[in-house]
Amino acid sequence: MKKLETLAAIDELTGLLNRRYGMKRLYEEFEGSHRHQQILSVAMFDIDDFKQINDVYGHQAGDQVLREFADIIKEEIRVSEFALRYGGEEFMVVTPGASSNNCHRIMERLRRKVESLEVKFQKHNLKFTFSAGVAAYPEGMISNQPLLIQAADAALYQAKRQGKNKVVIYSGEFELRSQPKA
Ligand code: GH3
Ligand code: MG
Ligand code: MG
Repeated sequence: MKKLETLAAIDELTGLLNRRYGMKRLYEEFEGSHRHQQILSVAMFDIDDFKQINDVYGHQAGDQVLREFADIIKEEIRVSEFALRYGGEEFMVVTPGASSNNCHRIMERLRRKVESLEVKFQKHNLKFTFSAGVAAYPEGMISNQPLLIQAADAALYQAKRQGKNKVVIYSGEFELRSQPKA
Protein backbone atom coordinates (compact mmCIF):
# COMPACT_ATOMS: atom_id res chain seq x y z
CA MET A 1 0.00 0.00 0.00
CA LYS A 2 2.79 2.39 0.98
CA LYS A 3 4.58 1.60 -2.27
CA LEU A 4 1.47 2.26 -4.36
CA GLU A 5 1.03 5.54 -2.54
CA THR A 6 4.61 6.50 -3.33
CA LEU A 7 4.14 5.62 -6.99
CA ALA A 8 1.00 7.73 -7.18
CA ALA A 9 2.98 10.67 -5.82
CA ILE A 10 5.79 10.56 -8.36
CA ASP A 11 5.91 12.11 -11.80
CA GLU A 12 7.04 9.34 -14.14
CA LEU A 13 9.28 11.35 -16.46
CA THR A 14 11.21 13.32 -13.86
CA GLY A 15 10.95 11.30 -10.65
CA LEU A 16 9.89 14.47 -8.81
CA LEU A 17 6.65 14.75 -6.85
CA ASN A 18 3.71 15.29 -9.16
CA ARG A 19 1.57 18.37 -8.85
CA ARG A 20 -1.18 16.77 -6.85
CA TYR A 21 1.04 15.28 -4.15
CA GLY A 22 3.49 18.17 -4.25
CA MET A 23 0.72 20.65 -3.53
CA LYS A 24 -0.61 18.43 -0.77
CA ARG A 25 2.85 18.39 0.79
CA LEU A 26 3.12 22.17 0.40
CA TYR A 27 -0.23 22.57 2.12
CA GLU A 28 1.03 20.50 5.07
CA GLU A 29 4.28 22.45 5.24
CA PHE A 30 2.36 25.70 5.08
CA GLU A 31 0.11 24.70 7.95
CA GLY A 32 3.18 23.82 10.03
CA SER A 33 4.90 27.10 9.21
CA HIS A 34 1.76 29.04 10.06
CA ARG A 35 1.33 27.22 13.37
CA HIS A 36 4.94 27.66 14.45
CA GLN A 37 5.30 31.13 12.97
CA GLN A 38 8.14 29.99 10.78
CA ILE A 39 9.13 31.33 7.42
CA LEU A 40 8.56 29.27 4.25
CA SER A 41 9.66 30.08 0.72
CA VAL A 42 8.65 28.74 -2.65
CA ALA A 43 10.23 29.13 -6.05
CA MET A 44 8.17 28.70 -9.17
CA PHE A 45 10.26 28.18 -12.28
CA ASP A 46 9.87 27.45 -15.94
CA ILE A 47 12.31 26.50 -18.69
CA ASP A 48 13.02 29.31 -21.15
CA ASP A 49 11.98 28.82 -24.78
CA PHE A 50 11.38 25.14 -24.19
CA LYS A 51 9.06 24.91 -27.16
CA GLN A 52 12.08 25.61 -29.39
CA ILE A 53 13.93 22.56 -28.06
CA ASN A 54 10.94 20.40 -29.01
CA ASP A 55 10.52 22.12 -32.35
CA VAL A 56 14.18 21.92 -33.37
CA TYR A 57 15.30 18.59 -31.84
CA GLY A 58 12.02 16.77 -31.20
CA HIS A 59 9.91 15.78 -28.23
CA GLN A 60 12.41 13.10 -27.12
CA ALA A 61 15.07 15.75 -26.79
CA GLY A 62 12.67 17.84 -24.72
CA ASP A 63 12.03 14.84 -22.48
CA GLN A 64 15.76 14.30 -22.00
CA VAL A 65 16.16 17.94 -20.98
CA LEU A 66 13.33 17.58 -18.45
CA ARG A 67 14.94 14.44 -16.96
CA GLU A 68 18.38 16.00 -16.58
CA PHE A 69 16.92 19.22 -15.25
CA ALA A 70 15.06 17.22 -12.60
CA ASP A 71 18.29 15.38 -11.67
CA ILE A 72 20.08 18.66 -11.04
CA ILE A 73 17.15 19.99 -9.02
CA LYS A 74 17.31 16.85 -6.84
CA GLU A 75 21.06 17.33 -6.33
CA GLU A 76 20.64 20.96 -5.30
CA ILE A 77 17.93 20.64 -2.67
CA ARG A 78 18.29 19.40 0.89
CA VAL A 79 16.19 16.72 2.61
CA SER A 80 14.03 19.30 4.35
CA GLU A 81 13.21 20.82 0.97
CA PHE A 82 11.27 19.32 -1.91
CA ALA A 83 10.55 19.85 -5.57
CA LEU A 84 7.53 19.12 -7.67
CA ARG A 85 6.65 19.12 -11.33
CA TYR A 86 3.92 21.72 -11.43
CA GLY A 87 3.13 21.35 -15.12
CA GLY A 88 4.84 20.44 -18.42
CA GLU A 89 8.10 22.39 -18.05
CA GLU A 90 7.17 24.23 -14.89
CA PHE A 91 8.48 23.26 -11.46
CA MET A 92 8.31 24.33 -7.86
CA VAL A 93 10.81 24.11 -5.04
CA VAL A 94 9.62 24.50 -1.46
CA THR A 95 12.16 25.57 1.17
CA PRO A 96 10.78 25.52 4.71
CA GLY A 97 12.68 27.81 7.07
CA ALA A 98 14.20 29.84 4.24
CA SER A 99 13.59 33.54 3.67
CA SER A 100 13.09 34.79 0.13
CA ASN A 101 16.76 35.80 0.09
CA ASN A 102 17.83 32.29 1.14
CA CYS A 103 15.59 30.72 -1.45
CA HIS A 104 16.91 33.14 -4.06
CA ARG A 105 20.45 31.99 -3.25
CA ILE A 106 19.45 28.33 -3.74
CA MET A 107 17.76 29.10 -7.04
CA GLU A 108 20.61 31.27 -8.25
CA ARG A 109 23.03 28.38 -7.64
CA LEU A 110 20.70 26.11 -9.62
CA ARG A 111 20.40 28.70 -12.38
CA ARG A 112 24.19 28.88 -12.79
CA LYS A 113 24.54 25.07 -12.86
CA VAL A 114 21.84 24.74 -15.51
CA GLU A 115 23.36 27.54 -17.56
CA SER A 116 26.60 25.61 -17.88
CA LEU A 117 24.98 22.19 -18.42
CA GLU A 118 25.11 20.40 -21.74
CA VAL A 119 22.45 17.75 -22.27
CA LYS A 120 23.62 15.07 -24.66
CA PHE A 121 20.97 14.00 -27.11
CA GLN A 122 22.04 11.93 -30.12
CA LYS A 123 24.84 13.98 -31.68
CA HIS A 124 23.67 17.22 -30.08
CA ASN A 125 24.74 19.09 -26.96
CA LEU A 126 21.62 20.91 -25.83
CA LYS A 127 21.80 24.05 -23.72
CA PHE A 128 18.92 25.63 -21.86
CA THR A 129 18.09 28.11 -19.10
CA PHE A 130 15.14 28.76 -16.80
CA SER A 131 13.46 31.69 -15.10
CA ALA A 132 12.26 31.67 -11.50
CA GLY A 133 10.04 33.65 -9.18
CA VAL A 134 10.52 33.47 -5.42
CA ALA A 135 8.12 34.39 -2.62
CA ALA A 136 8.05 33.82 1.13
CA TYR A 137 5.40 33.50 3.81
CA PRO A 138 4.94 35.67 5.84
CA GLU A 139 6.80 38.41 3.99
CA GLY A 140 5.08 41.60 2.85
CA MET A 141 1.41 41.08 2.13
CA ILE A 142 1.72 37.30 1.68
CA SER A 143 -0.61 36.05 4.39
CA ASN A 144 -1.92 32.76 3.03
CA GLN A 145 -0.92 29.85 0.80
CA PRO A 146 -2.78 30.85 -2.39
CA LEU A 147 -1.18 34.30 -2.17
CA LEU A 148 2.23 32.70 -1.73
CA ILE A 149 1.84 30.76 -4.98
CA GLN A 150 0.41 33.73 -6.82
CA ALA A 151 3.28 35.91 -5.67
CA ALA A 152 5.88 33.38 -6.84
CA ASP A 153 4.04 33.12 -10.14
CA ALA A 154 3.94 36.91 -10.53
CA ALA A 155 7.69 37.07 -9.85
CA LEU A 156 8.28 34.35 -12.45
CA TYR A 157 6.30 36.40 -14.92
CA GLN A 158 8.56 39.37 -14.13
CA ALA A 159 11.68 37.24 -14.64
CA LYS A 160 10.43 36.30 -18.10
CA ARG A 161 9.64 39.93 -18.92
CA GLN A 162 13.07 41.01 -17.74
CA GLY A 163 14.66 38.81 -20.39
CA LYS A 164 14.62 35.26 -18.89
CA ASN A 165 17.45 33.26 -17.26
CA LYS A 166 16.77 35.20 -14.05
CA VAL A 167 15.61 34.63 -10.48
CA VAL A 168 13.28 37.37 -9.24
CA ILE A 169 11.95 37.82 -5.70
CA TYR A 170 8.36 38.98 -5.39
CA SER A 171 8.57 42.58 -4.25
CA GLY A 172 4.91 43.50 -3.94
CA GLU A 173 5.58 46.36 -6.29
CA PHE A 174 3.73 44.75 -9.16
CA GLU A 175 0.16 43.57 -9.16
CA LEU A 176 -0.71 39.95 -8.56
CA ARG A 177 -2.14 38.59 -11.77
CA SER A 178 -5.43 37.69 -10.11
CA GLN A 179 -6.61 38.59 -6.65
CA PRO A 180 -8.15 35.84 -4.52
CA LYS A 181 -11.40 36.47 -2.71
CA ALA A 182 -11.00 38.01 0.75
P1 GH3 B 1 8.87 30.68 -22.21
O1 GH3 B 1 10.32 31.04 -22.31
O2 GH3 B 1 8.00 31.89 -22.25
O3 GH3 B 1 8.58 29.81 -21.04
O4 GH3 B 1 8.53 29.86 -23.55
P2 GH3 B 1 8.35 28.29 -23.72
O5 GH3 B 1 8.62 27.95 -25.15
O6 GH3 B 1 9.17 27.56 -22.71
O7 GH3 B 1 6.84 28.11 -23.30
P3 GH3 B 1 5.59 27.50 -24.04
O8 GH3 B 1 4.53 27.47 -22.99
O9 GH3 B 1 5.33 28.22 -25.31
O10 GH3 B 1 6.01 26.02 -24.41
C1 GH3 B 1 6.10 25.03 -23.47
C2 GH3 B 1 6.26 23.74 -24.24
O11 GH3 B 1 6.54 22.65 -23.36
C3 GH3 B 1 5.04 23.35 -25.03
C4 GH3 B 1 4.84 21.89 -24.71
O12 GH3 B 1 4.66 21.12 -25.87
C5 GH3 B 1 6.13 21.48 -24.03
N1 GH3 B 1 6.00 20.38 -23.09
C6 GH3 B 1 5.16 20.31 -22.02
N2 GH3 B 1 5.32 19.12 -21.39
C7 GH3 B 1 6.27 18.43 -22.07
C8 GH3 B 1 6.86 17.14 -21.91
O13 GH3 B 1 6.56 16.38 -20.97
N3 GH3 B 1 7.81 16.77 -22.80
C9 GH3 B 1 8.20 17.59 -23.83
N4 GH3 B 1 9.14 17.15 -24.65
N5 GH3 B 1 7.64 18.79 -24.02
C10 GH3 B 1 6.69 19.22 -23.15
MG1 MG C 1 5.51 27.12 -19.21
MG1 MG D 1 8.81 27.80 -20.67
